[in-house]
Amino acid sequence: LKGHRGWTRTWRAVEQPKESYDVVIVGGGGHGLATAYYLAKEYGIRNVAVIEKGWIGGGNVGRNTTIVRSNYLLPENNRFYEWGMKLWEGMSRDLNYNVMFSQRGVLNLAHTPAQMEGFMRRGNSMRVNGIDAELLDRDQVAAKVPGLDVSDRARFPIAGGLMQPRGGTARHDAVAWGYARGADSLGVDIIENCEVTGFLFDGDRIVGVDTVKGPVKAGKVGVAVAGNTSRVLAKAGFDRLPIESHVLQAFVSEPLKPLIDTVVTFGAGHLYISQSDKGGLVFGGDLDGYNSYAQRGNIPVIQDVAAMAVAMFPNLSRLHLLRHWGGVMDMSMDGSPIIDKSPKDGLYINAGWCYGGFKATPASGWCFAHTIARDEPHELNAAFRLDRFRTGRTLDEKGAGPVPR
Ligand code: FAD
Repeated sequence: LKGHRGWTRTWRAVEQPKESYDVVIVGGGGHGLATAYYLAKEYGIRNVAVIEKGWIGGGNVGRNTTIVRSNYLLPENNRFYEWGMKLWEGMSRDLNYNVMFSQRGVLNLAHTPAQMEGFMRRGNSMRVNGIDAELLDRDQVAAKVPGLDVSDRARFPIAGGLMQPRGGTARHDAVAWGYARGADSLGVDIIENCEVTGFLFDGDRIVGVDTVKGPVKAGKVGVAVAGNTSRVLAKAGFDRLPIESHVLQAFVSEPLKPLIDTVVTFGAGHLYISQSDKGGLVFGGDLDGYNSYAQRGNIPVIQDVAAMAVAMFPNLSRLHLLRHWGGVMDMSMDGSPIIDKSPKDGLYINAGWCYGGFKATPASGWCFAHTIARDEPHELNAAFRLDRFRTGRTLDEKGAGPVPR
């Protein structure tokens, strides 16, 4: 690495926030940075700060398994995620930054006739909304993914699958860096190593935030802190949100020659697997079963994930794991996100992304920017209200994607 010197900075180092901004975004993950970028680009609001506790890319945006898809059943979800997919398709050009978006397809495996029925229903809903979906039988699955055990001897024999050909993966760090550079070039201040420690109110109206670098005044404040929403919003007086925080782990194996050229999800448990450009298999499993803010995993989940991977691909049984890590997931109670104004004037909430917020990054930023700029939701996030858990208008879609239950 001796030669890695003299790199120019991708965005300005703003050590000290200004006294005041039109908008402060708390959290410099993918969603916070995308929000700042679209606020500046789409709404001309450039006096914006993104205030990040750690470093850009250190949160879940740099810890995920990078799967991008829009294969949802409910119209509110599939329209939102499909808009995200369209933004993904133009992202490298828009940001002038190669985010390595690879539309290699996402295949959800089914193991029972009932699952096939469910996938048929979801695929139809996708197609009705203009989203690509293909129902594959077992032979088509076998042809698409040669290493899979499609025999009747498999622990959970495969019946077929639902494929979204336009789904795929992206380089997660590049997404964070690309949005950071884009926002910075439009005048947004990105302040790293600056924890927000409190919120400043004048009555019920927000007037700024307290940080470890001192108070910062703001006309509006958007909170996009992913796995820390309950902790951060407790400082603004929100005692109880419809969110539980759990660790989710990801794993990378030693590099292999090309083996899997799509994203495959197990239908009999929670496992998703793809192969990185360096050859490592990248996979993730289920949540750790208890609430936690510790960004590290535990051994039973490693064992569980390894067992599921080998049940799908017996030829992986001698593969070595290289590393694994954890990120904190804010699980909403219906599996869908929250992008909304809060009951406090000028304070906006972007939260509850469960396992799936990476793919939402562009659409989330787009819609959150609209909600903040116009003080009302975009039609794409109008259903992602905070009060739906009180009114009963929930969007219950925990079953989308790799989670068959
Ligand atoms: P983050 O990057 O976590 O950003 C939030 C930021 O807020 C952090 O940088 C944090 O430091 C900052 N912050 C917190 N508190 C404060 C404070 N007080 N002051 C200032 N800043 C603060 N999604 C998919 O779509 N596909 C996948 O394949 C996928 N796989 C995943 C696998 C794993 C192992 C994990 C952990 C997640 C996965 N996800 C996936 C989910 C996805 O990564 C997240 O939903 C998404 O990244 C969350 O949004 P973010 O990028 O803004 O979060």
